[in-house]
Amino acid sequence: MFAMSVSTWLEDHSTIDTLMDLPLAVAVVHRAGSVDLVNRRFSAEMDTEALTPEVIAGLAARDAPSNVTLPNTNGDGERVGAFVLPLGDRLMLILENGDRAVEILQERLRELERLSTKDRLTGAWNRMHLERTVESETARAARYRQPLSQILLDVDHFKRINDGFGHSVGDEVLKKLVGRVQNVLRLTDGLYRWGGEEFVVLAPETDAVGAAVLAERLRQVVAAQPFPVVGAVTVSLGVAEYLPEGSSDEWFDRCDRAMYRAKAEGRDRVVVDPLRPAADPAAGSARTRSLVELVWESDYASGHPVIDAEHRRLFELANRVLAEALSSRSEPDRLADAVSTLVREVERHFGHEERILEDCGFPGLQGHSKAHQALLRRAREVEAAVRNGPVSVATLVEFLAQDLVLRHILTADRQFFGLVRAC
Ligand code: GH3
Ligand code: MG
Ligand code: MG
Repeated sequence: MFAMSVSTWLEDHSTIDTLMDLPLAVAVVHRAGSVDLVNRRFSAEMDTEALTPEVIAGLAARDAPSNVTLPNTNGDGERVGAFVLPLGDRLMLILENGDRAVEILQERLRELERLSTKDRLTGAWNRMHLERTVESETARAARYRQPLSQILLDVDHFKRINDGFGHSVGDEVLKKLVGRVQNVLRLTDGLYRWGGEEFVVLAPETDAVGAAVLAERLRQVVAAQPFPVVGAVTVSLGVAEYLPEGSSDEWFDRCDRAMYRAKAEGRDRVVVDPLRPAADPAAGSARTRSLVELVWESDYASGHPVIDAEHRRLFELANRVLAEALSSRSEPDRLADAVSTLVREVERHFGHEERILEDCGFPGLQGHSKAHQALLRRAREVEAAVRNGPVSVATLVEFLAQDLVLRHILTADRQFFGLVRAC
């Protein structure tokens, strides 16, 4: 059994370096009779001329690890004890008793696994590397007060893939899935195989809102196209932002719970951990608080009292939508009502803003109105989607954070900030 796992390793990793560095005298021969490789230790201990095609032919039929003796040329018929390990078309000859050789190889394998950072099947980082990275990233996030999020991704009904198509097809699905996910990630986001068909993405400098958007992209990139042989594959994802006051285990648990909620709510979806205890004890009521919120910064102010008051109000209403979307106890109607209130307010605000810009003689008014129309169309689409059924948190977050706040308030509206201040 041991020899089997060792030989699988050697077959995959029989690089010259690995064999050369082994603290064992090793030669690799082809069953057809040639000598492929002899490491330093082997040539020091035995005359390689002795590995003649006839000698190799005498070993060629062996298909199980076994102890043998080999003739040595420099002696008078003296034979050398060796251990033969079959590796496909080749045989590995080790000048050592079998048990001892396997023991040394095993030790080396353990050492290599301890040092390795990559998962061999998928090429994602492995769990050991994840543990080390979590330690350094959480310390960094706490020290520099930067957000840090993790996404836990679990393949839906993966057992059915294995049962229906076999384990090796399952393996291929995992490889392909990792390839698709890697394409979406930034260089700074790490993908780790946590175990089996579960993966973790660590996203530094990313809060829960950003991570929810990313998780939704990952969900889509998996679901968008069928996989070879097996067809459609979906994944469920949990998202959690690290809280410096909590431990990394607690962080993982929150992410895991979010992922399980995604499973329970029907799979193929993203659930964001609500981060903080839902009840705000200071308020003494059931008012929910979420850390996933849009935070108003002073430099978002245009200097125009009406525009600024309304922008702040939009933040507040958007945060209400987020709180409803992230609360596990929310009723669907309450979420839909919160979205409708926001959309009405956006509509009103755009009307006011356009009038103010007209009064101030803003030259880009026409383009700005067009941008407003496009945004309103998107807002109404989101509103209708929420009324018609469940909408992923990430879709809402993407609309609120990206379209409404980033594109409207922080990008498009900046063009007139100077003007309305002076107006
Ligand atoms: P769920 O939607 O609830 O996640 O259903 P599931 O079938 O995916 O359930 P679960 O996560 O419990 O099962 C994971 C299965 O993945 C069980 C295990 O046999 C299989 N598995 C784990 N590692 C590997 C692997 O490396 N290759 C293959 N082919 N299968 C694996
Ligand atoms: Mg699983
Ligand atoms: Mg699964």
